[in-house]
Amino acid sequence: MAVTALYVHVPFCAQKCRYCDFDSRSFAPCDLSAALDVYFEQLFARLDAFGKAGALDQIRTVYIGGGTPSLAGKRLVELARRIRAWCAPVEFTCEANPESLSAELAAALVKVGVTRVSLGVQTLDNTELTAIGRIHDADRALAAIAMVKNAGLDVSCDLMCGLPGQTAVSWKRTLDGVLAAAPHHVSVYPLTLEEGTPLYRMACRDESLEPDEDFQASCMDVARELLGAAGYHPYEVASYALDGHECAHNIAYWTGRGYLGLGRSAAGMLDAEDFDRLAGLFPGVSARGDAYRVRLVQRDDAATTFDFEYLSQREAAAEDLMLACRMTRGIASDLLIRAACVIPTGELAAVCDRALELGLATWVPETLGVHEGPLTSADVVAGRVRARLAPTHLGWLDGNVLFELFWDLA
Ligand code: SF4
Repeated sequence: MAVTALYVHVPFCAQKCRYCDFDSRSFAPCDLSAALDVYFEQLFARLDAFGKAGALDQIRTVYIGGGTPSLAGKRLVELARRIRAWCAPVEFTCEANPESLSAELAAALVKVGVTRVSLGVQTLDNTELTAIGRIHDADRALAAIAMVKNAGLDVSCDLMCGLPGQTAVSWKRTLDGVLAAAPHHVSVYPLTLEEGTPLYRMACRDESLEPDEDFQASCMDVARELLGAAGYHPYEVASYALDGHECAHNIAYWTGRGYLGLGRSAAGMLDAEDFDRLAGLFPGVSARGDAYRVRLVQRDDAATTFDFEYLSQREAAAEDLMLACRMTRGIASDLLIRAACVIPTGELAAVCDRALELGLATWVPETLGVHEGPLTSADVVAGRVRARLAPTHLGWLDGNVLFELFWDLA
C-alpha cells in the first residue's frame, strides 16, 4: 500500500501559549529568522531524500502544522513549492495563526498549490484570548478568515471551549461570529490542562481556571447544534465541515492509512512493506522482525534520531477499530470483518456488546431492508449481517471510554 499522506512539522511560535505542550519554541525576533533558516534547510534536505527514494510519488494530502507555519513567511512558500515539485496532492493544508498571516502570504501559498489554511482562532473573546496567552485579537482572527477566503483557499477554524472566564454567552458569541465569517470547516476542542504548562501551574493555585467538564460538554452540544443548523456536518469527534470540505488528510489518519512525518517531532506510520522499502531513511531504527506496522517520530532537527514502535497485526487491527470510533460513521462492517481475521470473533463481539450496553454505540444497518430481527454483534462480526457500529451522542461526548474498549483488544 503506497503512502498517500505527508505531515511536516514547523516547531516555532512567536510566543508560547499558556496551555501548550506541543513541540514549539519561541525566540527573540532577531534569533528567530536565523533559527528558521537553519531549520528549513534541514527540511528541504530531508524532503529531497524522501523524494529521491520515491516515498512521495503517491502523496495525495499534505499538512504543514506546528508550531506556527505562517511565522516562516517566504520559507513556508518555498517549502510548499518544493513539496509540489515531488508530488501532486489534491489537498494541501498549512496551519496559520492570525497574527502572522498576511494577504500576500495567502496569495503566495495559492500560487504554489496550497489549497487550505487551518487557522488557530480559539475564541473571539479578547479577554479569553489573553487568558490563554494568545497574541491575536478577535478582529485580527476575523480579518485572517476573510484574507484566506479572498485568496481562494479553503479555511478551517480551530475553536476551544472550557477557557478561563468563558461563559455560555461568550461561547455562543464566538460560534455566531465564526459562522458569520463562513469558514469551510470548524474544529472544536475542549481545553485540557497539560502538566508543566503555565496554565496548569496557574490552575494549581486557582481552581477556577480548571476547565469544567460539564460546561465543556454543554459547549460541544451547543456547537453541534449551531454548526449543524448552519450546514456543517460533524464527521469526526471534533470536526465539522460543509459538504465536500472534510479534511482528507485527517481522515487518512483516522482510517489507518500510512503517512510520512517530516521535521522534528513529526510522526509517521508505515505498514511493513512501506517500512522495508524506506527503512534507509530512518537511521538507527532496527529491523522490524515480523511487525505489521511501524510508528516513527523524528526526534531532532537533522533527522538522525527517531523514536519507533512496532505493532503486531492484532495491535494494528485494534488501533484501526479505535480510530474508526472517532468518525461519526463509526466502524464499518468491512473493518470489523477484517479485524475478526486476527482477533477472535468472540472477543470482538463482546467488546461491541459492551459498547452497546454502555450506550456508547449503536448498530446502523449498511444494507437497507434485507435484515429481519435484532442485529447481534456476533452476526455482524461474522459477516452474516452488514452493519456499522456508530458512536451515540454519549459515545461522542465520552469518546475516551469507547476508544479504550477497542484499544484494549490489542
Ligand atoms: S500557537 Fe499553537 S503551537 Fe504555538 S504555542 Fe500556541 S498552541 Fe502551541
